[in-house]
Amino acid sequence: MTIKRYQSFIGGQYLANQSNKYFNVVNPATNKIIYQVEVADTLIKQKALESARSGFEQWSLMSGIERGRLLLRAVELLRERNDELAQIEVLDTGKPWSEASVVDVASGADAIEFFAGIAPSIEGNQQSLGGDFYYTRREPLGVCAGIGAWNYPLQIACWKAGPAIAAGNSMIFKPSEETPLGALKLAEIFIDAGLPPGVFNVVQGDGEVGAWLSQAPEIAKVSFTGEVGTGRKVMASAAKSLKEVTMELGGKSPLIVFDDADLDNAVSAAMLGNFYTQGEICTNGTRVFVHDDIYDDFVARLLRRIETNIVVGDPMLPETNFGALISKDHQMKVLSCIENGVSEGAKLLCGGKAMSPRTAPDGYFVEPTVFANCGDSMSVVRDEIFGPVMCLLKFSNEEEVVKRANSTDYGLAAGVFTQDITRAHRVIHQMQAGICWINSYGLSPVEMPVGGYKQSGLGRENGIETIKYYTQIKSVYVGMEPLDSPF
Ligand code: NAD
Repeated sequence: MTIKRYQSFIGGQYLANQSNKYFNVVNPATNKIIYQVEVADTLIKQKALESARSGFEQWSLMSGIERGRLLLRAVELLRERNDELAQIEVLDTGKPWSEASVVDVASGADAIEFFAGIAPSIEGNQQSLGGDFYYTRREPLGVCAGIGAWNYPLQIACWKAGPAIAAGNSMIFKPSEETPLGALKLAEIFIDAGLPPGVFNVVQGDGEVGAWLSQAPEIAKVSFTGEVGTGRKVMASAAKSLKEVTMELGGKSPLIVFDDADLDNAVSAAMLGNFYTQGEICTNGTRVFVHDDIYDDFVARLLRRIETNIVVGDPMLPETNFGALISKDHQMKVLSCIENGVSEGAKLLCGGKAMSPRTAPDGYFVEPTVFANCGDSMSVVRDEIFGPVMCLLKFSNEEEVVKRANSTDYGLAAGVFTQDITRAHRVIHQMQAGICWINSYGLSPVEMPVGGYKQSGLGRENGIETIKYYTQIKSVYVGMEPLDSPF
């Protein structure tokens, strides 16, 4: 059987490379190659820059309402093609169809719809200065780069393209080499919707192509989603041409459950915040702090829920709600983090091993895993694992738990469960984290800005706020009187 081979998408069409280099993409649930992708070489990179430049020149001259109208057509196409796109996400990532078919495409479409609506209202202001006056123009930055992670490939592409393009920029997007197809489908949809060729381009490849995008002087901004370590490299490269950066990075977020919490609700949050997308979510609440007085009850309910409600298997089966990890390497990394936890003295309450479910025996699965007796300095408690591994930590008072929850270089997210409204806000206001939930966890509607404190990131995605990160202010002083000069 011949394997389909994809290319980069430049100037409204697929473009072959000259180097003949390509890479394989594997379905993590079957360990089988599903397609191949050509790596962007020197020719593709050059063409991508030319295409994005000419796309920008045309697109930035259109009115906001015209841009918004075309983007809304793309939103319709995304929704019409939901199932086809969701299936691509399942085969590329190993996540369950039960998630991708209702979340991944829909949340991507929501982001483009939201920013399409904002496009016509991007405005400056003016102020009188006596006779003279000044006004401001909120202008696009130019050619922006997007670099994506593999956990929500299409959603990440939409979250970056939506605000960038709505504000009049063009974009060169590089998806993760693990999950390169969703962004290509988005590029096709933008063309089908009538956007000018060159407004959204996709270059394919690994970190080498990402590093090229980060340094290219022709690019005005890079919006990156990935690990903290890679984010540092991207920022250092971007500094050479003083590019704007948005950094959406990793986390090790606290979820705090007080003794007055609705326990079943808190257990739901701990499950969602550790096992949704088999634990491969940046905002996951992997440090679950539970008050001494309810600890035993919480653990009993948690283990019962894991035992009865998690269905592991072929991600395309509708009943599956827990899929395969992205790659063999990642599965090995997660298992080695678990081994470290055991050797550091954490107590395995459930899981901890690779799995071979009957309906997907060759996939890279890891059991839903819960550690008890965790200490704050253990590696399982400090390091991002990005897999289905929950750490339970006991606490006895508010002051102590706030201090321990903040004792990390990360600052992506935090959650608190309590019925005491004053305490809920008091605790959340002290959390050093950019995305916080009270009596909820993990929900990220497009209206709400998201992004990290400390080493979890810079800038924001979603919400009206994000337009600021894809535009620059030009101030124009208008002299109405003869210029007063001592010369
Ligand atoms: P990663 O950092 O390994 O890779 C991310 C992207 O960067 C990929 O496209 C990769 O090809 C590219 N890349 C690699 N080296 C590069 C370099 N030197 N220069 C430029 N680009 C380079 O991350 P990953 O493994 O794909 O994703 C998992 C990580 O992403 C986790 O840490 C997770 O927390 C984080 N994440 C964060 C968010 C958020 O919104 N904060 C969302 C999803 C994932």
